[in-house]
Amino acid sequence: MWAGIIYKKEVSMSQTATPSVIVDDVVVSLEYTLTVDGEIVDSTEGIDPIEFIQGHQNIISGLERELYGLKIGDTKKVTVNAADAYGEIDPEAVVDVPREEIPSEIPLKVGVELDVKNEDGEVLEARIIEITKDNVRLDFNHVLAGKELTFEVTVVDLRAADEEELEHGHVHSEDGDDDEDFEYFDEDDFDDEDEDEDEEEEGEDDSSSNGSKK
Ligand SMILES: [Zn+2]
Repeated sequence: MWAGIIYKKEVSMSQTATPSVIVDDVVVSLEYTLTVDGEIVDSTEGIDPIEFIQGHQNIISGLERELYGLKIGDTKKVTVNAADAYGEIDPEAVVDVPREEIPSEIPLKVGVELDVKNEDGEVLEARIIEITKDNVRLDFNHVLAGKELTFEVTVVDLRAADEEELEHGHVHSEDGDDDEDFEYFDEDDFDDEDEDEDEEEEGEDDSSSNGSKK
C-alpha cells in the first residue's frame, strides 16, 4: 500500500517539477544576440525571448549543444562554425537564369529575394546577386551560409515540456494560436470548453448578485 502511494508521487513529480538546468525535453526561454562578421544581425532585445524544446533540433545544432547544464540567469557566449549553423556555401547553388524567365512583377535588383519552385514542386528561396545583360544570377544559399555565428545568450526561464509538446516536438504557447500542426479536437478539449462555459455562467450570476448588494 505504501509503496503504491510513493510510486505515484514520484511519477507526478517527475512530470511537473521545474527543471533546474537545461537537459533534453526542457522548454528553454532564451534571450540572445547574434553577431556575424562583427555586426549584430538578430536579437531578442526589446521583444520576447525565444522558446524551444532542448534536444529536439528546434534551434541550430551548434548552439543547442552548448546550452546543456545552464541554469536560469546564466549567460554564455557561443561561437558556432558554419557547418554547425547554416552550412558551407555551395557553389552549385548559384545559377544563372535568362532575364526573360523572371516574371515581370519581380524587380530586377541585386538583393531582391524570390521564391522559386523546383522540378519537384518545392519552393526554394533565392536572392538576386548579379544582373547581366542577358542573365539574372540567383543564389539559393542561405544568407548566413558560410558564416561563423556568435551568440550571446541568457537563460530566462526553464520549464518541463508537456506530453503534447514532446509528441509534436515544439513549444505550444499559452494561447495555443501558433500551433500549425493542430489537427483535431480531442475529448479533453471539449471537456475544457464545457467547464469554461459553466464558469462563465457562474461568474455572471456572481456579478449580478454583487451588483444588487451595492
Ligand atoms: Zn504542436
